[in-house]
Amino acid sequence: MSQAHNEMLQTVVSESNLGDYMEARSRFDWETVERHFTWHASGKVNMAHEAIDRHVLEGRGGKTALLYSDASREEAYTFADLSEQSSRFGNVLRKYGVAKGDRVFIFMPRSPELYFSLLGILKIGAVAGPLFEAFMETAVKDRLEDSGAVALVTTPELLGRIKRSELPDLKHIFVVGGGPQSDAGLIDFDAEMAAAADDIEVEWLTREDGLLIHYTSGSTGKPKGVYHVQNAMIQHYYTGKVVLDLRENDVYWCTADPGWVTGTSYGIFAPWLNGVTNVIRGGRFSPQDWYSTIEKNKVSVWYSAPTAFRMLMGAGDETIAKHDLSSLRHVMSVGEPLNPEVVRWGWKAYGQRIHDTWWMTETGAQLICNYPGMPIKPGSMGRPLPGIEAAIIDDRGQELPPYSMGNLAIRAPWPSMMAKIWNNPAKYEEYFRLTGWYVSGDSAYMDEDGYFWFQGRIDDVINSSGERIGPFEVESKLVEHPAVAEAGVIGKPDVTRGEIIKAFVALREGYEATPELKEEIYRFVKEGLSAHAAPREIEFKEKLPKTRSGKIMRRVLKAWELDLPTGDLSTIED
Ligand code: ATP
Ligand code: MG
Repeated sequence: MSQAHNEMLQTVVSESNLGDYMEARSRFDWETVERHFTWHASGKVNMAHEAIDRHVLEGRGGKTALLYSDASREEAYTFADLSEQSSRFGNVLRKYGVAKGDRVFIFMPRSPELYFSLLGILKIGAVAGPLFEAFMETAVKDRLEDSGAVALVTTPELLGRIKRSELPDLKHIFVVGGGPQSDAGLIDFDAEMAAAADDIEVEWLTREDGLLIHYTSGSTGKPKGVYHVQNAMIQHYYTGKVVLDLRENDVYWCTADPGWVTGTSYGIFAPWLNGVTNVIRGGRFSPQDWYSTIEKNKVSVWYSAPTAFRMLMGAGDETIAKHDLSSLRHVMSVGEPLNPEVVRWGWKAYGQRIHDTWWMTETGAQLICNYPGMPIKPGSMGRPLPGIEAAIIDDRGQELPPYSMGNLAIRAPWPSMMAKIWNNPAKYEEYFRLTGWYVSGDSAYMDEDGYFWFQGRIDDVINSSGERIGPFEVESKLVEHPAVAEAGVIGKPDVTRGEIIKAFVALREGYEATPELKEEIYRFVKEGLSAHAAPREIEFKEKLPKTRSGKIMRRVLKAWELDLPTGDLSTIED
């Protein structure tokens, strides 16, 4: 690593107060980060080369890259293994005529083969499209059709959900673990892999060539096909260093599925660009199994989501006591606002401050974060990284002073910014409607120290008796109540107040849904937060509607409440 690069990292990693932070910001430039990559000198770009092959060429091929486990498999792969397996799949794709720029989708549960496939797709310069295994027929069809995918990697169990007759572009389907395929168009993945050569001439690209298409989570409406390019690796690598704080001997675990952007940017690229051992766990969420995964692999850096932390909190500290979690050094969260209560619990339960990070599918990588060395204010998503300028702006693009709620916006561009919304240029333009800014669609405010505080999605902000109330604040107060496991808050139209606050609440085990409890919860928010933010209506629900990536779908709560159509439900949990 170059000296300039080391210096860049030191200025960022060791900052521990606002003064140093400002200095790190003023000294920072992306060009210094770019010097890390082989393409800085050669001009030849390929993500799979930088993340995998490069480690082999530089003598680190024997290091463990992937520690995979699920109920039936437990396997370890070195960087050299991943290099060979992905070369094999790249060769297989080329044999079937798949080439640079083609979209190749992956629709299967997590397994080592998923990762071999994704890297193989990248090696030949094709664009990867990972789909979450739980999608049903229509969700799969919509995404394959929209992206014009020419090939798909899947498993025998999921084949039934692929409407081949309605997908004329889809020429080849590779079936993993299904044995010889007799059906035309179906190809035996395993046999092809065994027969393919394990080295490959990587497709050399430019920084503007395609990398991935990710469909968004669908929290606010129909999922968008977000197209990312190779240039994103600059920010994946950099944030892996300064936000994930990855070091040579770390064992890192990101719990997200590659069907969501966190599962690729931080489940594949950031750890492997940094040459770190990456844990992948298949199967479903279970507190026991998750803690065992940390204990058995000695996970040191852990990246998960508020919904998981809330469930772990609900599982009780007895479960934690049964496991040795002392290997943990750094814990992070993304995907939804992280309730202050959860941060406080994490500190008590794990001896770890859970670091909140804010970013979106469209942003490709982290932008506003809490990172090591920085004082954490529970409930704040942190500060913009060096190299990133964030602001709160009004609807005309004017910057607002501290503590004003408004549009959270980022000065465009940054390295991992999306390059387009697939098939929807008008949607893309909307994000950039205010000159110079990317408008996130989230509502937030900034405090006088430059910390950002998430309030809700712009459309979810509630207007009650002339006050603007972010649902997050109310939800966070609600989950502080011992009976409340999860809460979703919406504005309900009201003739006198404009809107009133309505809360949907899922109770923790052992609590009964009684009118007295409703009253008690109402008073708890009224006294702990404010009268105008207390939910005048509370409805108990067994479960809240969530996306498969674990986000509460407030638009569904609102549709229920107002008897409106629920819209696109392709990403909702069962
Ligand atoms: P869709 O765009 O389809 O409605 P989505 O916005 O949930 O779905 P993602 O790109 O997966 O899809 O999620 C990004 C959003 O998640 C952000 O805009 C923000 O609302 C929320 N989010 C992510 N991280 C945080 C965080 N740390 N704090 C608060 N909100 C967060
Ligand atoms: Mg979104």
